[in-house]
Amino acid sequence: MGLLSGKTALITGASKGIGRAIAIKYAQEGANVAFTYLSSVEKGQALEQELAAFGIKAKGFRSDASDFKAAEDLVNAVVSEFGALDILINNAGITRDNLLMRMTEEAWDEVIGINLKSCFNTVKAATRTMMKAKAGSIINITSVVGIKGNAGQANYAASKSGIIGFTKSVALELGSRNIRANAVAPGFIETEMTGVLDEKTVQGWRDAIPMKRGGQPEEVANTCVFLGSDMSSYISGQVIQVDGAMLT
Ligand code: NAP
Repeated sequence: MGLLSGKTALITGASKGIGRAIAIKYAQEGANVAFTYLSSVEKGQALEQELAAFGIKAKGFRSDASDFKAAEDLVNAVVSEFGALDILINNAGITRDNLLMRMTEEAWDEVIGINLKSCFNTVKAATRTMMKAKAGSIINITSVVGIKGNAGQANYAASKSGIIGFTKSVALELGSRNIRANAVAPGFIETEMTGVLDEKTVQGWRDAIPMKRGGQPEEVANTCVFLGSDMSSYISGQVIQVDGAMLT
């Protein structure tokens, strides 16, 4: 029996990086996994096969996290095909970094739409099912940048701070229905998102982290297993940093 046996989870943005690691850990722990992707169609389809090999039900959906109506359709499809929705993980995210002076309106809107509005979209669509079940765990992936701010990432930091305020509000509103909401704030995790940076910059970051290394996607995924499982049944409204003491 895994920690998540019998539970159904929906994970957004699971074709690569942290979302993919969460999907695999969830399947290993016995959860049925619905997940989304947008541009990485082949990777999304391959993941569906990989997850099914764990003997759980798995299905990938091509769905744009920033689209309100698409999120509603997605949640309805998951509930009708899986028969439940116990855990919702909002992981889909992008960066469009630039100094404020050079940041375009499009770069602002795109980041807020995909990173922040996406959380509103799926949570709004999922709450009816979770309220009926009188149970649910919502996990939103924020960032240490949403706590501290970061030069060159005003749009990203604003979206990630917004996720924290949103998560805490959901925890307050839905706590009486036994629905929990928490945010996970990764520090520097080595994925494709951070792989685009030059090695010298990356080594500088590693050196500045008290644990002297970047994190692995699996280390974020393990935190999500804990928050999705009944092991965390009295934890709600929290922001859990997974950052090797980067921001302390
Ligand atoms: P990644 O490797 O770039 O993966 C991002 C995922 O999001 C991909 O699966 C991508 O799918 C999906 N996605 C992007 N736009 C989407 C959209 N409109 N609709 C649906 N899915 C979409 O990034 P990552 O490093 O794993 O980051 C995952 C999350 O952790 C993000 O929220 C990020 O902000 C957060 N985070 C990361 C770090 C880090 O150091 N890596 C640190 C703090 C927080 P497609 O490719 O199929 O479009």
